[in-house]
Amino acid sequence: MKSFQELELFEPLEKRLAELEYTTPTPIQAQTIPAAIEGKDILGCAQTGTGKTAAFALPILDFLGHEAPRAASGRPLALVLAPTRELAIQIGQSFHTYGKHVRFRQTLVYGGVGQNEQVRSLNKGAHVLIATPGRLIDLMEQGHVRLSDIEILVLDEADRMLDMGFMPAIKKIIAKLPQDRQSLFFSATLPPKIRELADQLLFNPFQVNVTPKTKSVEQIDQSVRMMDRCEKVDQLVKVLRGDDVLRSIVFTRTKHGANALTRKLEKQGITATAIHGNKSQAARQRALSAFRDNRISVLVATDVAARGIDIDDVTHVVNFDMPMEPESYVHRVGRTGRAGANGIAISFCTVDERDKLREIEKLIDQPLRIQNPGAKLNDTASKPAKSSNFGGRNGSRNNGSSSANGNRRPKKRFGKGGWNKRRATAKA
Ligand code: AMP
Repeated sequence: MKSFQELELFEPLEKRLAELEYTTPTPIQAQTIPAAIEGKDILGCAQTGTGKTAAFALPILDFLGHEAPRAASGRPLALVLAPTRELAIQIGQSFHTYGKHVRFRQTLVYGGVGQNEQVRSLNKGAHVLIATPGRLIDLMEQGHVRLSDIEILVLDEADRMLDMGFMPAIKKIIAKLPQDRQSLFFSATLPPKIRELADQLLFNPFQVNVTPKTKSVEQIDQSVRMMDRCEKVDQLVKVLRGDDVLRSIVFTRTKHGANALTRKLEKQGITATAIHGNKSQAARQRALSAFRDNRISVLVATDVAARGIDIDDVTHVVNFDMPMEPESYVHRVGRTGRAGANGIAISFCTVDERDKLREIEKLIDQPLRIQNPGAKLNDTASKPAKSSNFGGRNGSRNNGSSSANGNRRPKKRFGKGGWNKRRATAKA
């Protein structure tokens, strides 16, 4: 594995990475950053938790660092599109963190809050624009955003944008971007519609695939507990009271289910907060910061609301309801075991949900360990209790360890030849 020094980033970025004690690039960073700095388009297949935000943020900051005079127009040079406001905010935080020693400004544009502050920030001039598609289109239509200087486009979590119905909005936005730009395209999965979009957007892309067949990250201990629906709350309380449970995210299928479950947990003395699309932006942010600060230990979330939640040290993910789409399973369990940490993901599965379980196992290409293979279930009226993997495999815990060690100080001059030269060579 390369070191960050070998990636020859803009020196203030190297300094910052050393401060953050990031010594080794994650696989997606090691592959993406050099290609992106050379100016290549990227097609990255990676889940959250793999370090993909830095994989695109560092090349953009490297570009801004080297091209400071070009940034003087005040118009955005880089556009990052993300499916949810939470993810947009987290990407903004990452740019802020990684770019601490780089002179640049960023603006965040997302719905669910008033637009005035965002417009004011745009008017002040921003080099990086991080946006959700709907609000960006609103502001473009009102003439507040000019995208004519964009040099780098990032589409993050493209598959989720498709699920959320953003494809028409994305196409509309992309039509307003200069043709001669670099595009970095990231998606956890590559279903046919996403491939089609990537084919339209990318020119001879460098492909990075850190999860060859949508596999859940290896450090996560994944298992399934079979049960009747009526047992779920009691079983959840038992799991959440476990000694090793510090912070957990519990997934429900519906917003209503999330609210109801939160109330039940609180009755049992477990501090929990629901996070879903019906909550105001402020309420969602409050819930996230309470969770970050350990004032609450359990977030009860729906799939859409939980996308992109980037909180370290989530020890447990519990699928209270099995996800409707198997891809969501990968996103859900990716909330734990982030960046080299271990994590535990437990799925509660009823007889009615077994088809969902099979779909997940097919997608991740591995059977999930059943914790209670001989469980006697009452909800078996409609279906026999037999299934492909209910034989009780004894999966073993995979103890991945963090890659961060060593202590080098970057002592390097500014990048060789500058960003543009490297880009020009790549385009030629
Ligand atoms: P992401 O997949 O971008 O959401 O990143 C997941 C987590 O990994 C974040 O908390 C990052 O701060 C952290 N991270 C990203 N890159 C590295 C690295 N090279 N070394 C250590 N931690 C990292």
